[in-house]
Amino acid sequence: MTGARATWLSLGEGRTPLVRAPRLSEALGLDVHLKCEHLNPTGSFKDRGMAVAVERAIARGAQTVVCASTGNTAASAATYAARAGVRAVVLTPEGATAGAKRAQAHAAGAQVLEVRGTFDDALRLCRELGERDGFMLVNSLNPDRIDGQRSVVGEIVEQLGGVPDVIALPYGGGGNVSAVAAGCDEAGIAPALVIGEAAERPTTFASAIRIAAPAHHERVARLIGEDRLIVVSLSEEELREAWSTLARVEGVFCEPASAAGLGALGKLDRTGTAVCIVTGHGLKDTGAVDTSTATVVDASLDAVLEALA
Ligand SMILES: *Cc1c(COP(=O)(O)O)cnc(C)c1O
Repeated sequence: MTGARATWLSLGEGRTPLVRAPRLSEALGLDVHLKCEHLNPTGSFKDRGMAVAVERAIARGAQTVVCASTGNTAASAATYAARAGVRAVVLTPEGATAGAKRAQAHAAGAQVLEVRGTFDDALRLCRELGERDGFMLVNSLNPDRIDGQRSVVGEIVEQLGGVPDVIALPYGGGGNVSAVAAGCDEAGIAPALVIGEAAERPTTFASAIRIAAPAHHERVARLIGEDRLIVVSLSEEELREAWSTLARVEGVFCEPASAAGLGALGKLDRTGTAVCIVTGHGLKDTGAVDTSTATVVDASLDAVLEALA
């Protein structure tokens, strides 16, 4: 198994299911599998790396962990800090994170500061704060995050019983794809990496990838140069389509950003075996779902049948 694992701080992150997606496979002409990272303890893939990063931060003497977040990093950092008994300070763009993620951070007792600015502004401030005594930055710029997160690759190979031809995932800041590439290096494998980003990065409805300036863009550019990585740009319509398809066709309800890997895969002409990493749970962002089509009926069978006709 590749990648570091948290020990005393673990809440059971990792070892998520890999499920086959038969109907998507048929539609795409590929053998598609879904790596269900949305089933981690706080509902996103970020837990793998965060558990390791917080554990190591404390070993290095930190009393406060600090992160900028579009929501899921905050929820994860807050959770592991609570478990470790240290302070979490999270900076989020004001009014731009999904309510459930905000609730998770507050529930775990984090100090939440909503910055009048973008995610990129919040990250800049956190990098400065992280330099202070007793503070540790736990964004994916912290190599311990990448170190903990790359364990996903070994699991995929083990669960699949072989190396996939393609691994597809969303592209926000690029921490996840950096971790997946590192995991592939460590395992000595070279599947094609496909990442889906929002064409409308600063404003996309997929809030988890609403990041104008990806922190890991240099790593991404190197991987492209090495012919290992393809970046696919997705319109809002394409993101929405991939996200609703995953729920309607395979019963996997994730948050909008999480289906960007599938969306990217759908725009390429690939064959063989593909693994899509599903990054965050659908219950994180229920506001994204249109529930206005519900019909109100009288409490009679006639009314129910009429509504169904
Ligand atoms: C953080 C996040 C992403 C983006 O991952 P990066 O490492 O920033 O590229 C995608 N989906 C979800 C659900 C996330 O929480």
